[in-house]
Amino acid sequence: MFTLAARRMGYRINVFAPEDDTPAGQIAYREVRAPYTDLDAVRRFASEVSVVTFEFENVPHETAEAAAEHAHVRPAGRVLHVAQNREREKTFLARAGLPVPRFEVVRSAADLDGALGRLGCPAILKTARFGYDGKGQSVLRDAEDLERSWQQLGDSPLILEAFVPFEAECSLIGVRARDGETRFWPLTRNVHANGILALSLPGVFAASLQEQAEQTMTRLMEHLDYTGVLTMEFFLRGGELLFNEFAPRVHNSGHWTEAACHVSQFEQHIRAIAGWPLGDTRRHSDCVMENLLGDEIEATPDLTGIPGTVVHDYGKAEVRQGRKMGHVTRLKLR
Ligand code: AMP
Repeated sequence: MFTLAARRMGYRINVFAPEDDTPAGQIAYREVRAPYTDLDAVRRFASEVSVVTFEFENVPHETAEAAAEHAHVRPAGRVLHVAQNREREKTFLARAGLPVPRFEVVRSAADLDGALGRLGCPAILKTARFGYDGKGQSVLRDAEDLERSWQQLGDSPLILEAFVPFEAECSLIGVRARDGETRFWPLTRNVHANGILALSLPGVFAASLQEQAEQTMTRLMEHLDYTGVLTMEFFLRGGELLFNEFAPRVHNSGHWTEAACHVSQFEQHIRAIAGWPLGDTRRHSDCVMENLLGDEIEATPDLTGIPGTVVHDYGKAEVRQGRKMGHVTRLKLR
């Protein structure tokens, strides 16, 4: 989606991906297929472009460093390094004085037993790496779940997190330019089903909460000396926002910005990393965004017949149950 935005802005985009037939590759100027660990391929790729950015955070740190030998890398590789590992991320956030749920590092069944005793039940055991959409997680409702959870996840580095009985989940998406200027979209309420984002509702929270979220994100951006679009996911509890995780990129919960704002999160990211002036983050319409999972994508032609409905099909070749295939934004027309 930011390749689409960048092309409209007049840029040619080269895509580097380990897999074939990526949605971005379909519209790229050039697509290079190589593993992230092929650092010579990464260096060659970077020497042909001006700026390198990422569409997900699990790119190895070494890959970003190799790219930085030849091109500007924005956001910087060290940001990926923090974001791609929950242990590093939570430790970094806690040290930066940002409010996170209580957590402990777990390396053995004995660690887990001790941590569960201190944090209490329920708690969530999470793999430090490669967790998303609820994958790599196990909820411990009582001490009897310890053995099952350890069997399930114990072969990876883990953290145990106190369960937050939240009233709502929400995310803030913001952007920081190279000169430090920041802008934010409205805090968005997110509803998950089976650990996967189902619905995003922007603009449903009070201004005081928006301010709290913006202050937290500004602190994080400054700590990271960040350039580009950044996302923070929060749990809302008793009027306070607790930090769940951050993503150094555009985010699914901001896909509605392409339909309801003059400047989408995608264009905004390209603006920030290319050194353009930041765009307006206000909505021209109220809206709700729904993900289209698996074969829900087949409803696309019918959905487009409804006024105020904007559908985006990612063009993924393979339809799998629960896979994010596209999204629909329903605008409240005036
Ligand atoms: P994550 O991959 O960490 O974003 O977790 C996926 C989902 O699991 C979140 O969107 C929450 O619905 C739930 N979850 C994760 N951590 C916690 C927690 N500490 N307390 C309650 N629910 C959680």
